[in-house]
Formats: sequence, C-alpha cells, structure tokens
Amino acid sequence: MNEKKQSVKTADASGRGTDIAFKVSTPGRLHPYSEASINAANHIMRDIEGQTQGEYLVKFEKAFKEYSGAKHAYAVDNCTNALHLAAALCRLEAGDEVIIPAYTFCATAIPFGKVGAKIIWSDIDKDTWVVDPKDIERKITPRTRAIVVVHLLGMPVDMPAVLKIAEKYNLRVVEDCAQAPGSTINGRHVGTFGDFGCFSWHGAKNFTTLGEGGFITVRNDDDAKLVPGLRHNGTRGFEGERERYWVPAMSSVDIDIDGIWPNNFCIGEAQCAVGIEELKYLDEVNDTLIAQAEKIHSIMADTPEITFAKVPDGYRHINHQFIMHFEGTGNGKTRDDLLDIMVNEYKTKCIVQYYPLYRYPLFQKLGFGNQDCPVLEEWWDNSFSFPWWAGMDDEPIDYLTSSLKSAVAELKKE
Ligand SMILES: *Cc1c(COP(=O)(O)O)cnc(C)c1O
Repeated sequence: MNEKKQSVKTADASGRGTDIAFKVSTPGRLHPYSEASINAANHIMRDIEGQTQGEYLVKFEKAFKEYSGAKHAYAVDNCTNALHLAAALCRLEAGDEVIIPAYTFCATAIPFGKVGAKIIWSDIDKDTWVVDPKDIERKITPRTRAIVVVHLLGMPVDMPAVLKIAEKYNLRVVEDCAQAPGSTINGRHVGTFGDFGCFSWHGAKNFTTLGEGGFITVRNDDDAKLVPGLRHNGTRGFEGERERYWVPAMSSVDIDIDGIWPNNFCIGEAQCAVGIEELKYLDEVNDTLIAQAEKIHSIMADTPEITFAKVPDGYRHINHQFIMHFEGTGNGKTRDDLLDIMVNEYKTKCIVQYYPLYRYPLFQKLGFGNQDCPVLEEWWDNSFSFPWWAGMDDEPIDYLTSSLKSAVAELKKE
C-alpha cells in the first residue's frame, strides 16, 4: 500500500491534495516505465542530433497505425491539440452547433469553443455512463455540424449507433479517446470509427510519453493530407529530390493547408522513442486494470448500494478510472456522507471526477451554462472514484472494498 504523508495543503483541480495522511491514494506515476523506454530516451539524449521531426516520429506513427488499425495517424504534443486539429478540420462557421458530452474532462469542449462553435451538451446513458446516442439525435438541429463523443474512463461509446446518426444527418464525428487507448468494440479500436480520433499520452493516462503527448487518427485522405502542415506551422519536408535543394528558401513554405491557420503541435524524438516502447506494454497495462475492476465487482456484488457501469457484450472497457455510483441507503444519506467516512475514517483518497461541464464557471461565463441532461443531473452527485493505478495488489483492493462496505453499513445504521 502506498502510504504517503501528504505535505501539499492546497487542493489541485481534481480535489486531490489535503493534509490527511492517506492509507491508499493514487500514486503520481500510474505505472513504471520499462527499462526499454528508459534506454530509448537515453539513446535520443546521447546519440541523436535532430531532437524532433525525425525517424522516431515516423516509427511511432507506424507503430500506432499497426496497433490501432487507423488508416492515418499523426503524433502531436497533446490530446487537447489533437482535438483542436479535429475542430479546425470540421471547418465550422459562426453559429454552427456541435454536440458534446457534458460528462467529460473540460479539454474535450474547449477546442470547439475556441473555433467558435455553439456547444450543445449531450447526456449520458444510464447503464454505460458514456454519451447516449439517442440523446445526441434528440439535440440535432439544422445548424448541427458535428458530433463529439468521449470514450470516458475507457468505456466505448456505442459507435455503430453514432455513425448511423452521423450518416443520416451528414455530420462529422470526433472521438475523444484520451482515456481509451486499446478500448475496442468487437475488436475494432475506438478512434477508427469517426472522422477523427484524439488520444492523450499525458502522465495521468494509461501510458505516457514523458508527461505530455498525443495522437490524432484521421479517416479520410483529404483531411489527413493537411495534418502535417497544420501541426507544424504550415511546413513539412519536400517529397523527392529537387534540382537546387535551396529553392524555394525554406522547407515547403508553400505547403497547401487550405486556408486554415496552422500551429506548432509537434512532439519531440525522445517522446516518440519512449512511446514506441510503451505502446508494447499498453495491452498488458489494460489487462491489469480490467482484472482489478473485475475483482472489485465480484467483491462488491453483495452490496447493492454501490453500482458499476454495465459493459455491453463485445466491448473492451479498459477502466482508465474506477468510478462507482452510490444508490443511497434509503435514509437520505448521500455520496458526500459516504466519502466523509471513506476519507476521514478509513483514509482512502477517494475523489469525485468530471464535473458536468455546464456547471463550470468557465463554460457558464462563455455562454454555455444551459443544460438539458436529466440523466447526468440525477446520477452525477452520487458518483465517486477509488484511488486507481495499474498494478494495485490485493492489499489496497481488499482495504478499499472492505472500507466501502463498512462505510455503507455505517450509513445504514444512522
Ligand atoms: C486528458 C484528457 C484530455 C486532454 O488530454 P491532454 O493530452 O492532456 O491534452 C482530453 N479529453 C479527455 C477525456 C481527457 O481525459
């Protein structure tokens, strides 16, 4: 059990960080780097001259395409910027509406707000706790241009249903896969269904490229052609030989990016070299997380007051986070009463995650505080998470589950 004296007094954005000495809390590093990854970073630092835009970028992109089955895939510096590229390539105009899940991390929505979209919040499905395609269809208007879905916590969204809607109304589909690398539906990877798939290799995700990193997968060839230029200030290397290598003056300054403003969203060679190695362990990490979740489900099966998302048949849900729902005890006790006991009595650093975005002052001030998400409104205030990382052994799992059972029993007595 990672028993750590917490010295940080200020709470961070997710509510982590108080002066309680927790018995179980999420470690800063969710799983250790392999020796091969450490050697790969060393190799770039010792031996490689160009530190970016080199052979490791090409190899990482090839490895990820092979892993995911995506037709086109480009490494970028983070998932927020992958989403930004997707938003730009949706070519939205002022007043265009984009339907985005209200239950997600704020980075899903911000890039769409930045390109001027009108954000319409979609609701969750009561069983899977990810976006409900029926609610998406309910919110389509003549101004709708795109649908954003999030495979939150690693649970795949019902993509066949989403694609049917997108086809019917001629809408673009962006998949936020930040929490779901390796999640699949009948063997097909998330991020290969929609027009774009956006992935994160941030330090808090299932694998990381030295703290930051990401990918964008692209379905159609015309969009894909523009990504290297949009990622790199409108520049990229020429293909083939030129008679005079110095004409024109800079590498491909004339690259066609089709009137869209470009960015610098590049990722360095050390990150790519680490990513190639880490990708080899991703399925193993995911299997570990799935086994941990299944163990907790079976231990808690005798406690109907605590429920879990239902995974549809054929779906691989990689359990990036472990969120539960408190159904109450029938005597008015809430999730916050439950967490008071879990935190103060049992010293388990439970947290509450993914505040509905329409409740954020950020979105309210920008004009997106309205919501019509009755399922989320009803469900969210009684949801909570365990501390969670890949490779929890029996000791923390037994302690967390027995504490939770005792806390529920205590609340029932009151
Ligand atoms: C982490 C996360 C992002 C942002 O990823 P970065 O790589 O940190 O930019 C976007 N969406 C979701 C759902 C996330 O969890």
